[in-house]
Amino acid sequence: MTAQSNNYRIQFFGATQEVTGSCHCLTAHNKKILLDCGMRQGGGENFVRLAEEQFPFNPKEIDAVILSHAHLDHSGMLPRLIKEGFAGPIYCTPETKSLLKILLEDAAHLYFNDVVYENVRRARFGGVLIAACYSAEDVQRVLTLCKTISYDAPLTLSDGVVVTLHDAGHILGSAIVEVRCIGEQKTKTLVFSGDLGNSDAALMAVPAVLENADVVLMEGTYGDRNHKTRAETYNEFLAILAQAKKDQGNILIPTFAVGRTQDLLFELGCLYHQGLLEGWRIFLDSPMAQAVTEIYDQYKNFWDQKSLTEFLPTLTISKSVEDSKAINQVKQGAIILAGSGMCTGGRIRHHFRDRLWHANNHVIFVGFQAVGTLGRHLIDGAKKVHFNGEEIVVKSQLHTLGGYSAHAGQQQLLDWAGHFKTEPVFWLVHGEEQSLQTLADVLWQQKGIQARIATKGASFYF
Ligand SMILES: [Zn+2]
Repeated sequence: MTAQSNNYRIQFFGATQEVTGSCHCLTAHNKKILLDCGMRQGGGENFVRLAEEQFPFNPKEIDAVILSHAHLDHSGMLPRLIKEGFAGPIYCTPETKSLLKILLEDAAHLYFNDVVYENVRRARFGGVLIAACYSAEDVQRVLTLCKTISYDAPLTLSDGVVVTLHDAGHILGSAIVEVRCIGEQKTKTLVFSGDLGNSDAALMAVPAVLENADVVLMEGTYGDRNHKTRAETYNEFLAILAQAKKDQGNILIPTFAVGRTQDLLFELGCLYHQGLLEGWRIFLDSPMAQAVTEIYDQYKNFWDQKSLTEFLPTLTISKSVEDSKAINQVKQGAIILAGSGMCTGGRIRHHFRDRLWHANNHVIFVGFQAVGTLGRHLIDGAKKVHFNGEEIVVKSQLHTLGGYSAHAGQQQLLDWAGHFKTEPVFWLVHGEEQSLQTLADVLWQQKGIQARIATKGASFYF
């Protein structure tokens, strides 16, 4: 073995000082292994971004992908990776593969529709038409290439490269990725946190704790703040319910179809069984969230309740557009859960159009809102918002409930990082600049860990 082949390298291609587009490349023993292949989200139309974005590497040279979890900001570029020549295995948990099918097919459906509409628009003024960057067949090939690995079961990917997935507690099937690079002269371990779960969340496990690593890539979405506890969040939620009832209004909750929705259905089920949802009807207006909830129910050994939908009898799931429109007739007492989570598209926008300009309605944000998204404009205090070709005045009362986040808060990140006994090199990814800078400061002050902030295209040899 040459000295050269004993140099391991990690290169950062995405989710560097931002929270979307997760993608890093590990080179070990002449193999190139992508950790995630995520889509960038927020700011502008999807099809425009996809048309402009190029992989900063040759997809044909990538030997394998290890996927931390199914969320599109970690998986959304996989169809395009295949379109451009990748043909290797995609390692993930069985749960991730199940969710991936729903997420990628839904994203492709929306994307192809957008391309058709855009081309009609362009044809009208004689503009140049655009082509989709990948096809439905490419999506199916992603699923064919998935090779599933259960938690805590080491798998040899190739000579000298062994991967183990650990439960990250973020969404169903989410994983912390541990890769051991075994060489004649040195053996090194890289740990990629993926998205770490909120250890106070109701449905998911506490993120697995690891003690050995030489290099750690750690997410820092909430590196600059702590979440309120589940108990505090519960009380805040009850207060909003009481106020909305007094206002004779409704509650709109933009939710991510995967993870947030299921946690919320569970929380609402708990409230229902305590008799605290009297007079409220719950609407889940997201066909994708419904499909995902069914996947969660398939793996219900994760919790000891009945299926999530059985647990919440006042739940109405909209299957058709007509069902969705029927919700508009409900004048008060509706709690509407709809996507997308950052309000960049989906049915939540229709409900905003109908209800955001009424002062008696309430909007609750339960997930992270990235810069440039409609959700972020709203929580930043916009008085008017523009979307779907209309201007809407914001009169509803807005709330942010961080306690329902699917991400670890600052103290949980510090605790997780503090378990490593081998003094690894820390690289911070998946967080906005301010958040990562704060996290780096407190890691140093409280744990004596000198963490570096990953920048796009930078490499680190170990
Ligand atoms: Zn995620």
